[in-house]
Amino acid sequence: SKAQLFDKGAKVNITFADVAGLDEAKVEVMEIVDFLKNPKKYTALGGKIPKGALLIGPPGTGKTLLAKAVAGEAQVPFFSLSGSDFVEMFVGVGASRVRDLFKTAREKAPCIIFIDEIDAIGRARGRNAIMSNDERENTLNQLLVEMDGFAGDVGIIILAATNRPDVLDSALLRPGRFDRQISIDKPDVKGRETIFLVHLKPIKISQTLDIHKLAEQTPGFAGADIANVCNEAALIAARKGKEAVDMADFQDAIDRVIGGLEKKNKIIL
Ligand code: ATP
Repeated sequence: SKAQLFDKGAKVNITFADVAGLDEAKVEVMEIVDFLKNPKKYTALGGKIPKGALLIGPPGTGKTLLAKAVAGEAQVPFFSLSGSDFVEMFVGVGASRVRDLFKTAREKAPCIIFIDEIDAIGRARGRNAIMSNDERENTLNQLLVEMDGFAGDVGIIILAATNRPDVLDSALLRPGRFDRQISIDKPDVKGRETIFLVHLKPIKISQTLDIHKLAEQTPGFAGADIANVCNEAALIAARKGKEAVDMADFQDAIDRVIGGLEKKNKIIL
């Protein structure tokens, strides 16, 4: 059901400790946390606090997680909507959802608004889109109006995620809108190891488990894939009646996740 298109200012208890790796991105968003906590400190000398930042990177790399962690660290409400929610929407509905969202956010500020898959709304005009062009443009225009309609010091910061920054309408990237860009890449072997460590925490693992080896065996995996591997491995071991999850279970889980990824890629091709 599309009845509720955004989380109404949910409290989040996710922090930077839940986000493994992404060290450079974390440094950049820490500044946003500080803007939310101490706006006066930044506006004291006449500076303007940025309204938005774009998180750019492939699916499953932790963009949503990082946005939630910003809200969690700043202890502010988290509002979110996804560009894909606007697909097949009736005329006028997209724009009014955006208006409602910003109205609520203004009441609850300081807060974070997270827009996932912003490219679904924010594609440059005249390109092929899933949504009818007029309706998508109405939604995009409303977003631009809302972003321009509040001062930087009201304490609303908009984080938007995309893996297609190249298709975005340049109006979105102008100063005063999404003028900061933070790239979130797929993890390297060291990053994968730290992501494994986060997701192995709740799992009963065998003492012989070689976490470095797991990281080496998962090139190209995003954080979401690694979370998936850890969960699959725990289920595989449980089915076999084991007391702890061992290397063989992880091997099976990795194979299974690779199989799933291959299928997904086939569908795209
Ligand atoms: P999408 O573009 O598909 O929305 P995303 O980049 O927003 O993806 P998330 O939704 O943040 O990805 O990640 C999905 C899940 O994968 C997270 O909830 C978390 O369990 C895991 N994950 C991804 N990246 C990381 C990371 N860097 N550290 C820890 N867990 C991660």
